[in-house]
Amino acid sequence: MELLDTLQRPLRDLRISVTDRCNFRCTYCMPREVFGPGYQFLNRTEILSYEEITRLARIFVSLGVEKLRITGGEPLVRKDLHQLLAQLRAIPGMRDLTLTTNGSLLRAQAQKLKDAGLQRITVSLDSLDDAVFQSLNDSGVPVATVLDGIKAAQEVGLAPIKVNAVVKRGVNDHTVVDLARHFRGTGIILRFIEFMDVGATNGWKLDSVVTAKEIVETISREIPLEPAEANYRGEVAKRWRYTDGSGEIGIIASISQPFCGDCTRARLSPEGELYTCLFSNRGHDFRALLRGGASDEEIAAFAASVWQVRADRYSELRTSETAALPKVEMSHIGG
Ligand code: SAM
Ligand code: SF4
Ligand code: SF4
Repeated sequence: MELLDTLQRPLRDLRISVTDRCNFRCTYCMPREVFGPGYQFLNRTEILSYEEITRLARIFVSLGVEKLRITGGEPLVRKDLHQLLAQLRAIPGMRDLTLTTNGSLLRAQAQKLKDAGLQRITVSLDSLDDAVFQSLNDSGVPVATVLDGIKAAQEVGLAPIKVNAVVKRGVNDHTVVDLARHFRGTGIILRFIEFMDVGATNGWKLDSVVTAKEIVETISREIPLEPAEANYRGEVAKRWRYTDGSGEIGIIASISQPFCGDCTRARLSPEGELYTCLFSNRGHDFRALLRGGASDEEIAAFAASVWQVRADRYSELRTSETAALPKVEMSHIGG
């Protein structure tokens, strides 16, 4: 029997955040003023082991999850991540295993990740202009390092590769056409993300959001675009293809065109809390069950009970008041 929430949405995707730590301090995600030397990250005993994550993932797959995405924080800062991927790869019924990374450590790990069974990868890169990129990541990592990580992913055969760029008004919106030109015709799918009011520390304002419409218009003026059909129901990114056949881009318009109606995603935090929406302020504690001796059946029953009462549709109901409410940080549960 298919597990449905109160809005008839099945549970299909599980995003697994393996760490709340990151070697970047992107201003829209982990601003240095908040995530500075005094910030208390989770300690080793608090975060789930790879065995615990794999057990939960297996249970979620038995409930209908088909796709697993590893995220963070920065997933590649967690030791021996490839070992987790190998364990997840072996889960029967799991169809798609992918990972989102800032790309800075990818050159060193790409081959191991591929060998462990990773199929494809998403790399975040907000601008090709070094000054702009470094002002956003606030950690001194240059564009060239990330581009080299993407190259490494190509070399080992991770495909398709997607590149995510968050667009913030007055910060990197003047560099979107450069990004489009760079990745056009390479087979790498570039996706622009509207700046979101995730967490409570990134100083989000509606004025800083460059909408999907604006992004498409800006690119189209230089390289004409036309809308393309979605690949499947519930695809988060709206597809646009270049009219000259040189490829496509995607736009994730969580602010201007919310897609809650098709949201089939649950998110697992590093310490084993399950969030049914990116904008929740509270998770459901699975670590207590895992470490308290619960059986697989008991854990599955808890997961089903959480999903069946789910009514989240935050982006469809967003107002300036809800944007200011406390929410879990993006760096904690991943994108
Ligand atoms: N560290 C990895 C990375 O940056 O790819 C994985 C985790 S990161 C939280 C996942 C994605 O969320 C990234 O593509 C990032 O750009 C995006 N993101 C973070 N904060 C965001 C915000 N406020 N609005 C939109 N996207 C955001
Ligand atoms: Fe780190 Fe990714 Fe957040 Fe940037 S977006 S601070 S790379 S977790
Ligand atoms: Fe899904 Fe929540 Fe985002 Fe809506 S706001 S698409 S329910 S994560």
